[in-house]
Amino acid sequence: MSKTTKQFQTEVQQLLDLVIHSLYSNRDIFLRELISNSSDAIDKVRFESHSNEAILEGNTDWKIKIIPDKAAGTLTIRDNGIGMSIAEVEENIGTIARSGTKAFMENLKGKDLASHPELIGQFGVGFYSSFMVADRVTVITRPAGSPTEGCRWESTGDGTYSVEECEKESRGSDIILHLKEEMHEYLDEWKIRSIVKKYSDYVQYPIVMDVTRKEPAKGVDGTVIEGGGDIEKTVEETLNSMKAIWTRPKSEVTEEEYEEFYKHISHDYDKPFRTIHYAAEGTSEFRALLYIPAHKPYDVFVRDQRKGVHLYVKRVFITDHCEELLPDYLRFIKGVVDSSDLPLNVSREILQQDVEIRRIQKSLVGKILSTLGELQEKEADEYLKFYAEFGPILKEGIHFDHANKEKLQELLLFESSRTEPGTYVSLKGYLERMPEGQKEIYFITGTSRQAVENSPHLEAVRKKGYEVLFLIDPVDEWVVQSLTEYDGRKLKAIDRGDLELESEEEKKELEAKQEEAKKQYGSLLNYIKETLADQVKEVRLSTRLTDSACCLVADEFGIGANMERIMKALNQDMPESKRILELNPDHPIMAAMTRLFEKDQKNSRLADYCELLIDQALLTEGSPIKNPLRFTRLVSELMVTDAKGLSD
Ligand code: ADP
Repeated sequence: MSKTTKQFQTEVQQLLDLVIHSLYSNRDIFLRELISNSSDAIDKVRFESHSNEAILEGNTDWKIKIIPDKAAGTLTIRDNGIGMSIAEVEENIGTIARSGTKAFMENLKGKDLASHPELIGQFGVGFYSSFMVADRVTVITRPAGSPTEGCRWESTGDGTYSVEECEKESRGSDIILHLKEEMHEYLDEWKIRSIVKKYSDYVQYPIVMDVTRKEPAKGVDGTVIEGGGDIEKTVEETLNSMKAIWTRPKSEVTEEEYEEFYKHISHDYDKPFRTIHYAAEGTSEFRALLYIPAHKPYDVFVRDQRKGVHLYVKRVFITDHCEELLPDYLRFIKGVVDSSDLPLNVSREILQQDVEIRRIQKSLVGKILSTLGELQEKEADEYLKFYAEFGPILKEGIHFDHANKEKLQELLLFESSRTEPGTYVSLKGYLERMPEGQKEIYFITGTSRQAVENSPHLEAVRKKGYEVLFLIDPVDEWVVQSLTEYDGRKLKAIDRGDLELESEEEKKELEAKQEEAKKQYGSLLNYIKETLADQVKEVRLSTRLTDSACCLVADEFGIGANMERIMKALNQDMPESKRILELNPDHPIMAAMTRLFEKDQKNSRLADYCELLIDQALLTEGSPIKNPLRFTRLVSELMVTDAKGLSD
């Protein structure tokens, strides 16, 4: 193939511009990113070689070499890792293959990136960070096992890149940065040394650089020649200590080292929120170094996001995204697990069925949940910060992880009719302040605090002095399907079925009153039901309303309004479910409608009022009404009639 010039994918160009312009205050990280890529590439070729030793071509002197060339103004990062073919270079560097990137870019638009570098950091700036210091980047690479497939990629970061075949003798990649004039400090030996020490000390492979040292001249027998002067000698020096941080005892690792390692594996720009480091012994032997990030990654709700912790077996890298080690609802956890019991040649299939993996998973989940529990107990404010980021993801566990449901339900927090906006109550806290006589835990689901707070369904419960949990996160609909009881108390939706708020005595009184009301309103209720037959399945008198005239409720097992809204938003087909229209017998509207009804059953006004009733019920619970135009026309007409009444 001859040299071809191509356009970057639009998102790549946008990302590039963002990286170059928003991270300038911390340019040093470009070296960490490139070293991490090289270290990953070596991990990969070593892993591949477990099943195909030939690809190593006898070249196993693992190292990452940094070559500053002052005369040429270039800085080269060389590795003998897996390398890339032309197709791979284009796929990995010319396009952004990762899903969710587009959505992420959209999300960034209009944000002040200079003051929020963590936004771009969450994405992992990777290779593109080279363009912060270089005005031209050349990649010369060849894939493991294919000696003739070398290629040369080059770009000035201005929208296009070129690729062509080229010869490259040794396996792996050379990333050559043609440094910008004002960036020549990165050719300085001490500068390179300090960046490597700071960011990449724990990298498992030697990061080497040729350095020139002056030594006194020596004779052939090795003794110093008196008066022989100094001679210059070039030696390859290893710049990093290579200590796998997770194998060291906790007491010997500094906060800073934990932090840098986190940034290395997560590509996060921010510090981790919490670090969990422990060694398991006994039936299962492994070491784990886990991190809870400070912010949720932009792609945490994207289905095929890259998740999972890194898996090592006896310090040998196996995979950087082992999904089997943690359940999905903990997919935001980053880190490393190093097992002593798994075989080195584990494959994906084995991972999926392996009992050892399951044992490790059980231990990790237990440890993470107990860490969170402790945080909640001892540092409530810190726990809140965590919950604001990851609560909605953690909640998925209630639905999927029955074994840990008991622990998970303690970690849940909800806003309620008694909390200020943005503050929360746990289920335990709810029970502790529950008034005597209250039998169940009440909740309402909806789209926002404002929507549920004003819902007429709340009226009677509130009058009783009962607290109502506001379940305003879409995932809450699924939470309450699995969490039907807590500590022996049922969780009860206040907008479905019968509420049964009354004591035995009150109940009798109420029944008598209802009988009376039924006599009074029975035929009106029938009339309303017939008129609204295609919209409601029943019309009845309510016990849950004190102020509002009406509301809509679901059957005990029917689909609620919120769930219907969510499913529609997800483009799921939902059968139109009819609900029950409840009317407040004490509301003056009832008396007014009765008067009209008794006067003239064929009065077309009456049918209009039935429509207005159901529209009111829909509006107050935050649902759309069927025909807004007709609604406004009816209200306008009423206003006109009313005004006329005044002037007559
Ligand atoms: P990330 O490292 O977060 O995936 P990068 O933009 O840094 O993002 O790199 C994109 C991809 O290019 C990597 O996932 C890898 O497949 C490939 N790549 C980058 N550097 C190297 C390298 N030195 N050797 C082999 N492949 C590399």
